Amino acid sequence: MIPIKSFHQIEKMRAACGVAGEVLARLVGMVRPGITTGEIDAAAGDWMKEAGCRSAFLGYRGFPGQICISVNDQVVHGIGGSRKIQYGEIVKLDVGVIKEGWVGDNATTVTVGVLAPRTQQLLEVTRQALDAGIAEAREGRRLGDLCSAIEEVVLANGFTVVREFVGHGVGRKLHEEPQIPNFGRRNSGPRLREGMTLAIEPMVNEGRADVRILSDGWTVVTSDNKPSAHFEHTVLVKKTGPEILTWQDTNAYSLKP
Ligand code: MG
Repeated sequence: MIPIKSFHQIEKMRAACGVAGEVLARLVGMVRPGITTGEIDAAAGDWMKEAGCRSAFLGYRGFPGQICISVNDQVVHGIGGSRKIQYGEIVKLDVGVIKEGWVGDNATTVTVGVLAPRTQQLLEVTRQALDAGIAEAREGRRLGDLCSAIEEVVLANGFTVVREFVGHGVGRKLHEEPQIPNFGRRNSGPRLREGMTLAIEPMVNEGRADVRILSDGWTVVTSDNKPSAHFEHTVLVKKTGPEILTWQDTNAYSLKP
């Protein structure tokens, strides 16, 4: 069963997602050559505390970080530490918070200086894929429409979709029904209904699709060590179309709520 949130519950989700978006935007502003991923993680914890919430990731199945920080070929679930960010790298920040019992989840990929053209394109296409998925988050569409919309954008540009990790329903818990793969078939799966809240999060690779997990038990990397990009929003399904609950004006997304 995919949970349907009431008006009151959606107000709680808006508050949690608002903080998640705000923390992410502030962290984006911190990313620069020379900073360590551990410093970014610590700042995330401070800001969550200041905002009266806590990390949805810290302690989740034993995850040790406040947020996930994944660099270059790291896809998702990277752990902050002593690694220094360098010019030319891409940094994925994934922020999930719990505020008054409700979860907001969002992620972005930050560029540090000038990238190789194909990597720059990878980021643009991944963001377009997120937009394409979000555009399907409206009453009456089917889950497979959303999933395949993401995949179509990725494949049309010659990139690959990570299959082992997927988006998800989000609300009282970080991971609720349904799972939201970044691939699928149109006209399949459950119908989307007003009041569903979905974390839509394409993970897209420049090279091969397959990934492996590092010996820390968490960090997912591409098997060919080529770059990977990740963008995520928590989105409310409505009759009139999607509402991006984690929207921040600082984001340069093309699809406004
Ligand atoms: Mg997520």
